[in-house]
Amino acid sequence: MEGAKRNPADELLDLVRSLKSQIQSDIDAGKTPTYLHMKAEAAADVKSTGEKSGVQILKPSRRTLTLGDVKKELGDCQRCPLGRLRTNIVFGEGNPKAEIVFVGEAPGGDEDIQGRPFVGRAGQLLTKIIEAMGLKRTDVYICNILKCRPPGNRNPRPEEIAACEPILVKQLEAINPRVICALGTFAARTLLKTDVPITLLRGKFHAYHGIQLMPTYHPAYLLRNPGAKKQVWEDVQKIMKMLSGQIAQ
Ligand code: SF4
Repeated sequence: MEGAKRNPADELLDLVRSLKSQIQSDIDAGKTPTYLHMKAEAAADVKSTGEKSGVQILKPSRRTLTLGDVKKELGDCQRCPLGRLRTNIVFGEGNPKAEIVFVGEAPGGDEDIQGRPFVGRAGQLLTKIIEAMGLKRTDVYICNILKCRPPGNRNPRPEEIAACEPILVKQLEAINPRVICALGTFAARTLLKTDVPITLLRGKFHAYHGIQLMPTYHPAYLLRNPGAKKQVWEDVQKIMKMLSGQIAQ
């Protein structure tokens, strides 16, 4: 009878039959079935967070912003006095979909001149650490809490951090990495909102808005204290285990 409600089981059966027929006709026509296109698109919008047991736990992407949007918003920033003193803004660089983001303190002299993060001696050491992880700089994303160099490489001031940190938060939101590696005291304390010393923070994962954050020593500290490289390597190995799914996320 026209207008009568159909049995939900019959409707489901019809739907399955129609999907099966669509897939078969796509296959017969030598096309990728519509269903697989949909699956690929859905897969591109989720990130695997645990592959240890072969069962993928999928978490929806939180990428609503792009790094381009954030850079545009930053513009010729003068939100704090460092804006007048810089040669270049050092926004950050690397893979916009990186699984891991390294966050340092602030640009130094080389970075200020080149407009790129971690390109001086400490940067070269960071590059070696990344390569020891079996990655390239272009696989990861590298940035700092401050985007402009404090004069004489002095410590960042609270008002400068307060002015600049929202940009970092948006960068992290745009990238949505699985792990953040906070390099040194300022990065770790700023992101974790704590005064706990880096010696106590490092070596353990901390929660940062649902992202695993591992604090470790800054490469510049390692240049002055090479004995601490062993601890950094231990921290980095934990990150590698997290990324490979050997540690539950
Ligand atoms: S340090 Fe950050 S907030 Fe200050 S001027 Fe530079 S980009 Fe803007």
